[in-house]
Amino acid sequence: MTDAHTRGPTRYAPAVRSGQERTDGGPESYRWGMAVDKSTLPTTEDEWRVRLSPEEFRVLRQAGTEAPFTGEYVDTKTPGLYHCRACGTELFSSDTKFDSHCGWPSFDEALPGAIKYVEDRSHGMVRVEVRCAVCDSHLGHRFDGEHYTPKNARYCINSVSMTLEPREGA
Ligand SMILES: [Zn+2]
Repeated sequence: MTDAHTRGPTRYAPAVRSGQERTDGGPESYRWGMAVDKSTLPTTEDEWRVRLSPEEFRVLRQAGTEAPFTGEYVDTKTPGLYHCRACGTELFSSDTKFDSHCGWPSFDEALPGAIKYVEDRSHGMVRVEVRCAVCDSHLGHRFDGEHYTPKNARYCINSVSMTLEPREGA
């Protein structure tokens, strides 16, 4: 009986409901306010294509970019949470949104565990692509060292990749 402590689902009991325990940032990093049931998400790109609008599909699933200064959230100041438009996962708080004047909604921090990074070598550049950690949809890019805010990071995110849920009473 030496394998009792390996990968058993009962090894520890998370305080949160199971089913949403994806933790790419460490056990303390996730705080799922809204459980996204991954089993209901599309498993093929054809399924995503049906579920999303053509522009959403192009950006979210094909790593496209919306034209600058055209997205609905570029100048939005409404308090609330920005969700992944593909799967509903909470990604960014309006508290971390700032005016970068770059043409896309910009945040200096993501919600813990909400996103993942992929090296992007397209267009002759090396950039850090930002994707939804749950459904792997493209959100935008992260840039560091620009000194916009004390956190010194800019998550440059397509409006079409997100849905704003206004804060209660806002
Ligand atoms: Zn997602």
